[in-house]
Amino acid sequence: MTDNPFSLEGRVAVVTGANTGLGQGIAVALAKAGADVAAVGRSPAEETGRQVEAAGRRFTFVEADLSSIEPVERVVRTTVERLGGLDILVNNAGIIRRADAIDFTEADWDAVMDTNLKTAFFLSQAAAREMLKAGGGKIVNIVSMLSFQGGIRVPSYTASKSGLAGLTKLLANEWAAKGINVNAIAPGYFETNNTEALRADEGRSREILGRIPAGRWGRPEDLGGAAVFLASRAADYMHGAVVPVDGGWLAR
Ligand code: NAP
Repeated sequence: MTDNPFSLEGRVAVVTGANTGLGQGIAVALAKAGADVAAVGRSPAEETGRQVEAAGRRFTFVEADLSSIEPVERVVRTTVERLGGLDILVNNAGIIRRADAIDFTEADWDAVMDTNLKTAFFLSQAAAREMLKAGGGKIVNIVSMLSFQGGIRVPSYTASKSGLAGLTKLLANEWAAKGINVNAIAPGYFETNNTEALRADEGRSREILGRIPAGRWGRPEDLGGAAVFLASRAADYMHGAVVPVDGGWLAR
């Protein structure tokens, strides 16, 4: 084992939704820090695989539609079979539906809550059962500024991300003494598919940018450092933290 407390050498990481956006940035950062990566999702993750392998690490794609909890046991089992263990889980896959609260539909409520919150919980449970056998592990949940703030026109998204931040703390309370660290990263406003509609709206885009002290939207690689840290031995005494990586948004 290396002396570097940030090294992920010899670790196996599962990253959901790693074919694009923040999940891809996180998967590549974990690989550069030494982890082998299982990308889990419904769309192939070839580009992520190329970048993980270019970093000298093993890569596997586990196809799974995370809109229900049906695949969670298989995701864990397949990862362990192919990569020999499961040390790190990043619950990144997520969706957003935008409509005025007055018109919001049950379908848009359920879809977002199921993917962003229910699956994240049951995948964490399945992964934790595996991690406990190995003496511990790291779980990193990707939450949002809307874990702290209300937002507008995204009721199920705000509920899901506030719920996931709460769940991060609950799981930390239950599993900290068992060697599993559960923490969350709250990204600010990043240039990904998730924010395409916001960035396309000139007025909203200008308003948002005007409030970011860093003066720019985040890029997927901006999350890498926090993800590597929370997945590493350096964060062994961190439990239940929700770490903003937001260009200063919450400081305003
Ligand atoms: P994105 O580009 O839309 O990526 C979302 C990822 O989740 C994609 O890989 C997507 O797969 C996957 N996913 C969605 N539904 C899925 C399902 N049913 N089964 C499997 N995979 C599914 O957006 P992103 O910005 O990178 O989002 C990543 C996470 O960060 C999300 O949880 C989001 O809420 C959160 N976040 C983003 C921002 C931001 O500013 N961008 C800010 C705060 C939090 P497909 O490509 O197949 O759809």
